[in-house]
Amino acid sequence: MSDVLAITEHRRGELRDVSFELVTAGADLVGDTGGDLHLAVIGGDTDGFAEELSLDGVDTIHTVTEGDEFNHDVYVQAVTELYEELDPTYVLIGNTVNGLDYAPAVAEGLDLPLVTDAVGLQNDGTLEVTREMYASKVESTIEVNADRAVVTIRPGEWDATEAAGEPAVEVFDFTLDESRVRSRVTGFEEVGSGDVDISEADVLVSVGRGIEEEENIELVQDLADALDATLSSSRPIVDNGWLPKDRQVGQSGKVVTPKVYLAVGISGAVQHVAGMKGAENIIAINTDPDAPIFDIADYGIVGDLFDVVPELIEQFE
Ligand code: FAD
Repeated sequence: MSDVLAITEHRRGELRDVSFELVTAGADLVGDTGGDLHLAVIGGDTDGFAEELSLDGVDTIHTVTEGDEFNHDVYVQAVTELYEELDPTYVLIGNTVNGLDYAPAVAEGLDLPLVTDAVGLQNDGTLEVTREMYASKVESTIEVNADRAVVTIRPGEWDATEAAGEPAVEVFDFTLDESRVRSRVTGFEEVGSGDVDISEADVLVSVGRGIEEEENIELVQDLADALDATLSSSRPIVDNGWLPKDRQVGQSGKVVTPKVYLAVGISGAVQHVAGMKGAENIIAINTDPDAPIFDIADYGIVGDLFDVVPELIEQFE
């Protein structure tokens, strides 16, 4: 029997999608071995979040009413105390900016091994973690030769759990050691077009080097508007300074998992594909029928984007 403690994530008053994916990953893991799935909600609207997270497969939700937003020191202390109290075999955390900020500190403090960026988990006596290597060209499976571990899971790799359940909700008895809190969130300031989070978008229209000139981006933005979609891009567009960095999809950009990903003039280099292959439906427009993007596209249009995009805009409008 192996209990799992999964730490959920929220930002500015909303649970992030990875929280629901952690439920699925955690439930699968306890399904392999038997045991209980515990969730932790730290900070924010803990009661509201606990209600949203009352999902199938969850045994107990532990709420820690401390602060509104993510704080490294609070999370490290709270997760460490939850671990010491609940004694789970595995701690699951999102492989997100926040998760990667505190998971190593938790693992180090508890003297546990840390395995990051899992895309698959199995346990038939020994925990096996699947990870991708060489810009997602190969997968490796790591056997964790330890009784316990902290594992971060890649967002978008597990389906979100939606079915309702009836877990117990318990307020965790936690007293923060203020002397160990070295930073505080005092407010949020949007940077550039930082109001757009491409990793949360349902429909992305993504522009690549096929667009040729900065002024032509407007054409693809018009298509995004016609589809009520968000504009993202490949790296050369960002390197050229035509769009801000937070629009970049890929290995050195963001991992996105929209329902629809429309790649316009993007070749499909491995570093780009690493960021968008989890999209439910991939549509590509490219003049080159041999472009690698067509290998992973569900639908493809071999054609000149300067002909196809205006036609699509007209159709959608
Ligand atoms: P190109 O590869 O130049 O492709 C342009 C495509 O447009 C071509 O397929 C062409 O046939 C097509 N085209 C041209 N004209 C038209 C037209 N009129 N109509 C329709 N199609 C047309 N890249 C990323 O995107 N994200 C990353 O995070 C990233 N990280 C990287 C990290 C590292 C360490 C390295 C080394 C590289 C990284 N790259 C990343 C770069 C990556 O290798 C590619 O160079 C890049 O993805 C190519 O972008 P692209 O597809 O827009 O351009």
